[in-house]
Amino acid sequence: MAFYITTPIYYVNAKPHLGHAYTTIVCDTLTRFHRLLGEDTYFLTGTDEHGDKIAEASKKEGCPPQDYVDYVSALFKITWPKFDIKFSDFIRTTEPRHKEVVSRFLEKVNDKGDIYFGEYGGLYCVGCERFYTEKELVDGLCPDHKVAPKFIEEKNYFFRMSNYQDWLIDYIKQNPDLIRPERFRKEVLSFLSEPLEDLCISRPKTRLTWGIDIPFDKNYVTYVWFDALINYITALGWPDGEKYAHYWPYAEHCVAKDILKPHAIFWPTMLQSAGLPIYKHLNVHGYWQMDKDKMSKSVGNVVDIFTLREEFGVSAVRYFLMREMNFGLDSEFSYKRVLERYNSDLANDLGNLWQRSITMLKKYSGGIVSSSALSSLAQDSDWENTLKLLVKDYTIHFSHMRPSEALKRVWEFVSSLNKRIDVDAPWELAKSEDNRQKLDLVLASLVKGLALIGALIWPVMPITGEEFWRRLGLAPESITLDSAAITLALGHGKVIEPGEAFFKRAEKEPEPGAKEKQVSSKDSKEKAPEGRPEVITYDDFAKLDLQTGLILEAEAVKKSEKLVKLTIKLSDTLRTIVAGIRKSYTPEELVGQSVVIVANLAPRELMGIKSHGMLLCASGPDTLSLLTPSREVPPGSQVS
Ligand SMILES: [Zn+2]
Repeated sequence: MAFYITTPIYYVNAKPHLGHAYTTIVCDTLTRFHRLLGEDTYFLTGTDEHGDKIAEASKKEGCPPQDYVDYVSALFKITWPKFDIKFSDFIRTTEPRHKEVVSRFLEKVNDKGDIYFGEYGGLYCVGCERFYTEKELVDGLCPDHKVAPKFIEEKNYFFRMSNYQDWLIDYIKQNPDLIRPERFRKEVLSFLSEPLEDLCISRPKTRLTWGIDIPFDKNYVTYVWFDALINYITALGWPDGEKYAHYWPYAEHCVAKDILKPHAIFWPTMLQSAGLPIYKHLNVHGYWQMDKDKMSKSVGNVVDIFTLREEFGVSAVRYFLMREMNFGLDSEFSYKRVLERYNSDLANDLGNLWQRSITMLKKYSGGIVSSSALSSLAQDSDWENTLKLLVKDYTIHFSHMRPSEALKRVWEFVSSLNKRIDVDAPWELAKSEDNRQKLDLVLASLVKGLALIGALIWPVMPITGEEFWRRLGLAPESITLDSAAITLALGHGKVIEPGEAFFKRAEKEPEPGAKEKQVSSKDSKEKAPEGRPEVITYDDFAKLDLQTGLILEAEAVKKSEKLVKLTIKLSDTLRTIVAGIRKSYTPEELVGQSVVIVANLAPRELMGIKSHGMLLCASGPDTLSLLTPSREVPPGSQVS
């Protein structure tokens, strides 16, 4: 068996936020779950980089679209590993491999006779990049953007989506778990009960050039949705890549409900027209709500995922998101709720179970699990059946996209072990040598239970699961749900130490955004060194994307004595950085210098110029000195 899952490719008009993080963590968790089952997995994420909105956003930022998408795409790519997300591939729709596949796909659909040229007039919302019917508008305004759409009339290419309406209805009816949960399947079928219109799949270059050429008419580019959906097969090397043959039959997509229609209607009809098999599942989730509003950049109300991670740690954030949201329904997000779950589920239930169990193992048995107790435990059919049933329920929940239920089930087991400690009272058993066997059995069942819990939580909390195994003297890379294998591995006879508490109780609710305020209120340049913490974690340091760059152009900024505007080459992009170094360097001196820059500093405007990044300088007593690599390295080299 194989498993292939995709996040949507994220549109680069917004930076990574909670909604993106949730979808991506769901996909990472599922991938790890399937790896636990011994399947061969492939996990794809990436960025969607074409279309009107990107062209507009880059214009606003004052840089070419390619520079703009390079910057935001890189933000996504460096964010995910910070949440223990391990993707197999990261695709960008501006990559040549994707452009080629889109062309080929369009040719195929065209050869089938499913594309025609026609006139279309309609009410168009730039924000949504789509035409609206009168009926869909609310008081004549776009329901999402609350602005009046413009009437646009133009000739375009159309995909005969309507030809596939009956086929799609049948297909969805014959494959009841194609779209899940059920409510979204119903929503799609209800939408399909009305006549389906053809899909406009081009934009004239007179209006938009930022897109992939229509292969049979160079005056047009491809509509961004038609281009974007194809990424799911580009990454597998369609049409004749080995990965395509291997993984596509197992394809699953995971999306938020706002993009249900393109995935449930456009994409399957496109695949059918081009003669490709349809994906196996479309998994659709709801929104995280704060104050009952949809969480998205356009509405504001964005939770800073990095603050959250800093306050609670990656494992706890991942646990909260997977446990709190019922997949498919909306969930309320609040820091208070995160804190509650952290303290009750993680610090109290799980953290205490570990600490109590291993402390007692240390105290009553020198930290060594009795191997004879382990073998008698393996013969205890009640105990073995309990474990078997737990793994079975957990597997069923995950296989049906119910991560929250799967975790709930694991926590029932955690509670049952905590109760068992209270009932069996090992401290009482330890009082008499007569109870030695019973004591050893209780301790062995706790240790084995913890090893299994480590494996069960691993898809959601990889670091914690692996640390459970490491401390139990087991190899994290052979983490498994197999009871016999766990028993065998636990017979190592080594001393097990409780170590530091896994989740220390968090006392008070963090103030969202408090940390950023502190940072941004300081002047980035003249910070007093004593205001800095004595120790920072490696993670803090790793947030900085330091790179070498080559100064190609330098010009003095008018009306400023200090500022110079620099054009700096990184590996394959150009950056504009405004630096306050004119008192120490003339612009002429700067051209051709190699420098070190902070590449992921949020852009800011200085004297009306957008500055993307910062140069590193040493401050001498009365002059600044640029940091420069002592040997020649290519621009864009990582500095660490
Ligand atoms: Zn709109």
